[in-house]
Amino acid sequence: MKVLKFGGTSVGSVESLRNVKQIVEACQGQVMVVVSALGGVTNQLIDMTGRAQAGDAAYEDILVQVRQRHLDVIAGVVPVPQQQQCNAIVEQFVEGMSSFCSMLCLNHDLPADMAANIKDAIVAHGEIMSSAIVTCLIDGAEPHFSPNFIKTRRVDGADTLDTDLTRRLIVEHLGQSKAQRLVMQGFIADDADTGMKTNLGRGGSDYTAALVAAALGAECLEIWTDVDGFMTADPRTHPDATVIPSMTYEQAQRMCDAGAKVIYPPTLRPVAERHIPVWVKNTFNPSAPGTVIQ
Ligand code: ASP
Ligand code: MG
Repeated sequence: MKVLKFGGTSVGSVESLRNVKQIVEACQGQVMVVVSALGGVTNQLIDMTGRAQAGDAAYEDILVQVRQRHLDVIAGVVPVPQQQQCNAIVEQFVEGMSSFCSMLCLNHDLPADMAANIKDAIVAHGEIMSSAIVTCLIDGAEPHFSPNFIKTRRVDGADTLDTDLTRRLIVEHLGQSKAQRLVMQGFIADDADTGMKTNLGRGGSDYTAALVAAALGAECLEIWTDVDGFMTADPRTHPDATVIPSMTYEQAQRMCDAGAKVIYPPTLRPVAERHIPVWVKNTFNPSAPGTVIQ
């Protein structure tokens, strides 16, 4: 079994989503597909919650844009017979976000922790909507809701992964599935004590995918992104930069810690512990060999 994670740019457009479908459906054996929100949507949702909380009615314009973006993508990639159902799912989530936003906008004296919970619940909709679209797109996909098995707890004021509980719940929820293709959200989680939506931090979808790969003992983790792999230097400033074909976990971890944006830094540890190879591959250039970390 393989775990394939698709980042925001990979699920961000009609063209890239067509590639996602091809890549997943070409896999032999069981595939766990972990998705980010459509590229840019998490930023928009954070901006929207800030405006709603500040009483700025411009939040409604952002919601209109987010809604339209998802409906346009559905019209472009989802097979016609499933479009209506997929649109209805998105509309329902947009309505949910709209009522959360008016709660923030109209209640200026909400306790800070309650406002923070509402904001996290809104932001989670980015991955919830993208995963709904990817589920409609991929033949035979079985949807799973990550907050049912990715659990955080409040530690020193921060949402922190409950590693043991999460590992056990991943095995319980996903380990029995006979489906060939499973789709789930990256990034989002539930607080194990309160049941409120939380998340693993910006860029956290990579981490979700690594946790699933490690708990299930996957044969590999593939991080599908918009570059050909780890590069010897930043290609925007060093046009002669080349792809590094193979690295150790330590080398890759050092590059991530030093700010290479390719992988979210906490990602490598769970897979390194289980000696699961990680491939960094380009959704826009799937035949490029990519970088393998092992
Ligand atoms: N959508 C989230 C973010 O933009 C998580 C992710 O993409 O990994 O940070
Ligand atoms: Mg990322």
